[in-house]
Amino acid sequence: MDYDIICTGSGITVLSYVLSLLKKDPTKRVLIIEKHRLVGGYSTCFTRPNQDSILDVSLHKLTGMGKNGNLRKLLESYGMLSELQMVYPDVMFMASTEKGKIHFHHDMSSLIEALKNYCDEDNMLALDDFFSDVMTYGYDSYMQHEILMGNYEPDFKRLRFAHKNLKGITVYDKLKEKFKNSLLREMIAVPCIYVGAFPEQASYLYFLHVWYASFFNRTAYPTSGSQGISDFFRKEIEKLGGTFKLRETVEKIHLSSDGTRCEKIETHKATYTANKFVFNTSHEYVLSLMNQRERECIHLEQDQLPEIANSTTTLYIILNEAPEKLGLTVEEMIILSPDCDMAKSYRDRARANPQDAALNEKAYWELSTIEVTNYHLLAPNHGKVIVINVLDRIEHWPERKTQPYKEKKLRVQSLILKRLIDHFPRVRDAIKYVEVASPKTYKRYTNNTNGSGFGYLVSGKSARIPLKLCDNIQIMSQWVSGGGYEATIAFGHMSSQMEE
Ligand SMILES: Cc1cc2nc3c(=O)[nH]c(=O)nc-3n(C[C@H](O)[C@H](O)[C@H](O)COP(=O)(O)OP(=O)(O)OC[C@H]3O[C@@H](n4cnc5c(N)ncnc54)[C@H](O)[C@@H]3O)c2cc1C
Repeated sequence: MDYDIICTGSGITVLSYVLSLLKKDPTKRVLIIEKHRLVGGYSTCFTRPNQDSILDVSLHKLTGMGKNGNLRKLLESYGMLSELQMVYPDVMFMASTEKGKIHFHHDMSSLIEALKNYCDEDNMLALDDFFSDVMTYGYDSYMQHEILMGNYEPDFKRLRFAHKNLKGITVYDKLKEKFKNSLLREMIAVPCIYVGAFPEQASYLYFLHVWYASFFNRTAYPTSGSQGISDFFRKEIEKLGGTFKLRETVEKIHLSSDGTRCEKIETHKATYTANKFVFNTSHEYVLSLMNQRERECIHLEQDQLPEIANSTTTLYIILNEAPEKLGLTVEEMIILSPDCDMAKSYRDRARANPQDAALNEKAYWELSTIEVTNYHLLAPNHGKVIVINVLDRIEHWPERKTQPYKEKKLRVQSLILKRLIDHFPRVRDAIKYVEVASPKTYKRYTNNTNGSGFGYLVSGKSARIPLKLCDNIQIMSQWVSGGGYEATIAFGHMSSQMEE
């Protein structure tokens, strides 16, 4: 065999898996094949000619970076925190509503104080109740990695209650049950965006854990951008003898005749053999590298898998003035939906008519809540950059490079910029450069199904997500861990520790 393990793709899950594996057993011969010249997948940065700025493909915040955060502990154990400088924003986000702006602080008393303006007495009680859910069920859920590693023993009665009563209910339904005020509901539901979901799609229990991880366990951003994280992993992996082959695309998988093992993989340059093959991609993508007979051997039907999370449309914007001087005063701003119940009903209709461009554009671009990051406050050396992310679906986007595609990009650009300018008017005259990445761009760049940046939807519906496709093919990506740096890095680490 050429290698013990060959990984296809160098996204963050694989980088974490390989580094902790090689730390545990440096004799393992590991190869990582990556189609780009940079490692990291979504965890990469890029530049544009004459723009003198660095743009981050995805990362705007690492969750779990507080003192007891899972991610902090892991990055410390990798030695990353002594090498990369981190910025720890004081405010989680500033929500911009038609009534004004409200700061969501990391500490609970300031947060409650800020939310009081939107609460009557009933809402205040409901708010206490919600925070109690975050600090109990959200906390237990967040500790799942530690539970699996044998480092934390939960209250099993509480855990059972949560799984029975809170997993199968959506954020939308639960918050509607708790709060009459729809603006309050939409503000509290914002962290759904961090897992590529809308409130009506996400499990309340999963959401509580995201809340705990992001609000009460602090967030951080490396001044090096996400590329710094990926490059750190690459350097450490190479030090321990791991090999990277960049600009090489895996094009074909060859299974044994009985379909139980992968015998080799083929790139456009060479063929490789290994004892084990790890794929940093979706199940669907792995199957697409097999022939029909091989796919049948795997016995994995598409409808057995959970629904795919939303993808993203992104506007990368370079300004000629520091964004904080233009009203974008904190690291993250949320432009809230003007009417969350109407937005939901449009999204329900859009999901039933995924190819209806006008309906989908209205539902996702015009009515839904969107996220704006001020990168200048996070990494000033990277330029006066802001980035806007909008959850979107791939189905209503035409083929890349066609005229309808180009026109659609211009439409999303002008609509989203209008929303930005409505909330932050001083930005209007400072825009120097805008670039749009659509779900199709993300799909082409990472090969993720539908261009999703978060894997499957965390809907709480029971579904079996297979970790292995046959004896020696393992999936190692957001499609098994759940989306986000914390979940993927922790999953990569845990998988290496469970390996013989
Ligand atoms: C816009 C956006 C913003 C986000 N913001 C955040 C955030 O702020 N915080 C957070 O925690 N999470 C965020 N996420 C989610 C997070 O980025 C992802 O969950 C995570 O990076 C996925 O990592 P992965 O290991 O699954 O691999 P991916 O990043 O999907 O990488 C897969 C890799 O495999 C390579 N590859 C695929 N097929 C082949 C092939 N055939 N041959 C060779 N190479 C191949 C690709 O080139 C790619 O490098 C965001 C996602 C998006 C889309």
